[in-house]
Amino acid sequence: MQKCLRCEQDMVLPTTWFHVVTCPPLPVCCSDCERQLERIVGETCLVCHRPFSRAEQHYRKGDMCYDCVRWEGDAEWKDALRMNHSVYTYNDTMKDVLATAKFRGDIALFAMFESPFQQAYTTHFPHIDLVVPIPLSNERLYERGFNQATVLAAFLPARIEELLTRTHTEKQSKKSRAERIHVENVFRYNKSNRLTGQSILLIDDIYTTGSTLRHAANILREQGAGEIFSLTLVRG
Ligand SMILES: [Zn+2]
Ligand SMILES: [Zn+2]
Repeated sequence: MQKCLRCEQDMVLPTTWFHVVTCPPLPVCCSDCERQLERIVGETCLVCHRPFSRAEQHYRKGDMCYDCVRWEGDAEWKDALRMNHSVYTYNDTMKDVLATAKFRGDIALFAMFESPFQQAYTTHFPHIDLVVPIPLSNERLYERGFNQATVLAAFLPARIEELLTRTHTEKQSKKSRAERIHVENVFRYNKSNRLTGQSILLIDDIYTTGSTLRHAANILREQGAGEIFSLTLVRG
């Protein structure tokens, strides 16, 4: 009997004729766990995909949330990121799944996101030239054993290029928003030739403040990239 990788309860696997003939990938997580994940639906911020259903009204200005109004009002960050799309909300189940995957090194759980992530890509980003996963620093990569953004990017039927490297710093979460925005850029462009106006889609597991994605975006724009978008599994 196969067990759910998240809650470890036994899973009843389908044994219909269809499943025997088509051999779809086996589920990694039970239907109870999968049901507890929450897709983003309804009205969202035009830039960062924050669901408006959860945000208080004063957090919204027209089609944008106030965080995005602030980003777009700052000359350094205006248009850095044209649009983010995220698939799930950051509810307790998702927190648990990400923590399990990242900190227990159990990347097998990510297999359940392959199809929804691919679907989001083909629906919202048909015009993309290049997909660039947000890198981890070498130290963090060594610690964790994998980069969750690279794993997510590999699900996509796209040209993937690791154009960026990241220098090691202390955890972003320990800093305030202002510190995170004004901190020196941790990303470096690691190719010798400049970009030539390509539309680029950045991939990461989570959009929290949007600071990481915008720092990466500005480095690519300095190198001649066209418009930069992002696709993340979760909107924090
Ligand atoms: Zn389960
Ligand atoms: Zn926003």
